[in-house]
Amino acid sequence: MELDGRAVRRLFGAMAATIAAHAEELTRLDQAIGDGDHGSNMQRGFDAVLADLDRIAAKPLPEALTALGTTLVMKVGGASGPLYGTLFMQLGRALPAGAGLAELATAGDAALAAVKARGKSNTGSKTMLDVLAPVLAALRGGDPATLGERLPRVADAAADATVPMLALRGRASFLGERSIGHMDPGARSSALLIAAACRAFGPTAKGDAA
Ligand code: ADP
Ligand code: MG
Repeated sequence: MELDGRAVRRLFGAMAATIAAHAEELTRLDQAIGDGDHGSNMQRGFDAVLADLDRIAAKPLPEALTALGTTLVMKVGGASGPLYGTLFMQLGRALPAGAGLAELATAGDAALAAVKARGKSNTGSKTMLDVLAPVLAALRGGDPATLGERLPRVADAAADATVPMLALRGRASFLGERSIGHMDPGARSSALLIAAACRAFGPTAKGDAA
């Protein structure tokens, strides 16, 4: 993953754009089983990333990911801010410069473990982890050439699969059985970020960069 500043800009810009485009949807999901701030929390965080993108995109990918995480910790707030912040900071710390897919998966494992530790949580509790974990598993298997199409599908299916789950962590857990029947907002934002990242590296995007 030899990503230059332009690629980092495209990646983080695509993530910010999808959060902005879906902020209302994330808010609606959080209104159903939380306190209705997930859309505005995420948008505030990624607006700050965009405002700082010149500085962040001047860094090599690992440091840029760490800077992304630091910005999200500072700006997103709520439960999701420290959790997404931890995810990207740990990804940045664990990713060697010029890493390939295998190193990305290993760094992803370290980042996922850090999010679990930070949230005292695991998969099966109806959170972002229920999207992040299966996506990471899919990163390891199959044809790398089709990853860009497969990962968003895995992420969407995993977010859909949170609908019938009982929330055991976060605000939604306060609702008990009433959390059943709604998609977890953090699962949805994770799926959006993964789809945006895949699009940023898709065949069209590569053409754009040439
Ligand atoms: P808050 O719940 O503080 O209002 P947000 O609404 O921004 O924060 O984020 C809620 C999302 O954070 C949830 O949908 C869930 O995916 C995620 N989340 C909350 N608590 C945890 C946890 N302990 N572990 C993993 N993810 C969590
Ligand atoms: Mg909330």
